[in-house]
Amino acid sequence: MANWFSNLTKMRQHRSTQAGGISSFDTLPFQLEDKSDLISSDRLHVVQQFRNSVENQLEILRLSLNATSVVLLWACTITGKISTYAFSSQCAELIIGSFPVGTGIVGALKGCNDVVLAPYRSSSPAIPYYPDDTPVGGFMAQNIVCGEVDKGKIGDFGIICVDRSSTAEWTPVERTLMSVTAEQILQNLILSRDLLFTDVERRVFQLVFEGLRTLNSALDIQSVYTAARKALGLVVKADLFAVSLIHADEHEIFYLDGDCPDLVLNRKYPLADSVVGQVVKYRRMLPERYSRSGRAPIVNGLRLFDSYNSVMVVPLSLDDTPVTGVLIIASRAENQFPRDAPKMIELIAAQVAIKIELAHSHEQIQQMAITDPLTGIANRRAFRRGFAAMYERARRRHGSFSLIICDIDLFKRINDGYGHPFGDQVIQQVASLLKEVVRSGDLSARIGGEEFSILLEDTGLSGAMDVAERLRRKVEQLQLHCQGEPVPVTISLGVSVFPQDSDDQDKLFNYADQALYRAKKGGRNQSVGWGNAD
Ligand code: GH3
Ligand code: MG
Ligand code: MG
Repeated sequence: MANWFSNLTKMRQHRSTQAGGISSFDTLPFQLEDKSDLISSDRLHVVQQFRNSVENQLEILRLSLNATSVVLLWACTITGKISTYAFSSQCAELIIGSFPVGTGIVGALKGCNDVVLAPYRSSSPAIPYYPDDTPVGGFMAQNIVCGEVDKGKIGDFGIICVDRSSTAEWTPVERTLMSVTAEQILQNLILSRDLLFTDVERRVFQLVFEGLRTLNSALDIQSVYTAARKALGLVVKADLFAVSLIHADEHEIFYLDGDCPDLVLNRKYPLADSVVGQVVKYRRMLPERYSRSGRAPIVNGLRLFDSYNSVMVVPLSLDDTPVTGVLIIASRAENQFPRDAPKMIELIAAQVAIKIELAHSHEQIQQMAITDPLTGIANRRAFRRGFAAMYERARRRHGSFSLIICDIDLFKRINDGYGHPFGDQVIQQVASLLKEVVRSGDLSARIGGEEFSILLEDTGLSGAMDVAERLRRKVEQLQLHCQGEPVPVTISLGVSVFPQDSDDQDKLFNYADQALYRAKKGGRNQSVGWGNAD
């Protein structure tokens, strides 16, 4: 008893010397798919209770069988070894540690349920938890298999070993005691494991919902993608995460997180002959076996996914509406996605689909707030913002910019003569010509009924006059007709330049307006620069 006690102390000391965190000695003898960090700390007593009960059962067995040691070994998928999980022993030399799975007599259990040896001879395969010369009379071992053990792989299994000094044969009662203990440990293990799995599942859901909650506060589309990536990261280990959105028979990758070149982004790929295409067509997550089938490419025209061995493509759709996009989750390792992953991924995907829809609506609303509905160009509010921003930029950089204000000549007559709807068409035509003359960094806006404005970045008077004249001529050349009758349209334009004319924003606007007034007074259909005026 003293020996056993000292060994138990040794085991506990061994446990306490393990480095921080959950060591193999603090966990249940099975893998929680690397999710042990998700077990809430108040549930860890389950782990402790399980070990205590195993130790008690091993002790009862050892005393009943008059054994020297009863040892429970458990396979560890991480180290690929089999380790001492718990024991009851009178032998001070017992080796507490890990051994390769096929070591000595334990190797003899491969392919059979138990090994019974009495007498145990010196020529018999070694008992891995004893030094070589330890005298042993009889030995017995039995597998404890929890769930399915993968062929050729170390799975979720343990071995209970008993040895004693007596060489007497193990009686049927003794063997029954052994298998009853093994069965009890197994039942206990299944119960404890289910408890912890439920706990982990609950925690994962909690984390996923926390992740999704951040989506609610983030309305722009990029935040939606990053929040989705974060939420999915809690469910699966992915090296690459992408969001691709569907446009007709193509899709475009808008978000990518992982080790891959940026050039795959913002390019269009055909849906045909690709896994993405099938997912969109069948509205189902693919590939069903969660590993690359090797036939159709994930994305047509992209070899990127060839080096990933686990790939999942998940449709993004709202109820019965067509699929608007897909999530692509990829991992370099094989069989990387846990069995329970699809359910949770679908849940996240449903949320992401809603959020993308919301984010798009939000963007549309924002766009509407700065867009003139009649012409589709910037409205007065956007012009004000753009004007202030260009002004600040030019001041900071000691740069320049020009402001053009233009107004359709004698527009009242057009309205009166041909009707308001035709007047609207004229406004639209002029706006489309404005779009043609501006460069990408410039801004054209409708700032009033038939008044427009153009802001030209890094442009002085002559450049601005060129643009103004080009626009004026384009309008003049418009050949508009109303009920077969030609309707000539012209515009007048006023130009002011920062900092030449003024370094004050309000004055710049007034000067452009005054120049426009002079253009009207001077006979219309002309451009006047404030600086050119006498
Ligand atoms: P001027 O050459 O001096 O600019 O003469 P004008 O007739 O164009 O005079 P003014 O700029 O004062 O008239 C603008 C007219 O534009 C008045 C208004 O009825 C019309 N208008 C304003 N907004 C709209 C619109 O959205 N659609 C249409 N069809 N007409 C509009
Ligand atoms: Mg006007
Ligand atoms: Mg006018």
